[in-house]
Amino acid sequence: MSRRIVLATGNQGKVRELDAILTQLDIEIVPQSEFNVPEAEETGLTFVENAIIKARNASAHTGLPAIADDSGLEVDYLKGAPGIYSSRYAGVDANSQDNVKKLLATMKDVPDEERSARFQCLLVLMEHDKDPTPLICQGSWEGRILHQQQGDGGFGYDPVFYVPTHDCASAELTPEVKNQLSHRGQALRQLAAAMKQ
Ligand code: IMP
Repeated sequence: MSRRIVLATGNQGKVRELDAILTQLDIEIVPQSEFNVPEAEETGLTFVENAIIKARNASAHTGLPAIADDSGLEVDYLKGAPGIYSSRYAGVDANSQDNVKKLLATMKDVPDEERSARFQCLLVLMEHDKDPTPLICQGSWEGRILHQQQGDGGFGYDPVFYVPTHDCASAELTPEVKNQLSHRGQALRQLAAAMKQ
């Protein structure tokens, strides 16, 4: 019988990307929305703290093991911002377009060589809400902030994230290629390998 694990995210973009890799394992991934899990308050100051908070919350409400992801964009010129605040960079009710526009405006006159950035992804698996040793996996993806939006794939900051290895924005990659390269794909493959053992 396949193992049931709750996925502690309501972000559809993330659910799609996580699903694509985790379906290769004999586990049934159930989004936390199916259990009406209330959103956890992300009070941590690091990606890993926030991922643990979200996984613990989902596990506590469902009694199931939980996987949570916390991810974001670090821009060197902005000393790592928006970082853990990536989804709310332009305000608590901001959507992706608001965040992208604020980033482009903030970086308006910054030259290419100072636009380095990376996506970070922390994934944790907690067996139960008091699990003292969560499985922790991390991926990071190097790139640069573009001067304007390109492409309509992906989500979040993908239209302004330049991928040097493919000479395009991450929003211009197919989902399969993005998964091969991305911070989330890397962290997920680590998680999948650890869970197979
Ligand atoms: P979280 O839900 O707190 O982990 O917020 C992560 C935020 O970081 C997302 O809402 C996006 O703004 C950004 N982000 C994370 N991963 C990606 C990605 O693969 N592409 C584009 N933006 C991303």
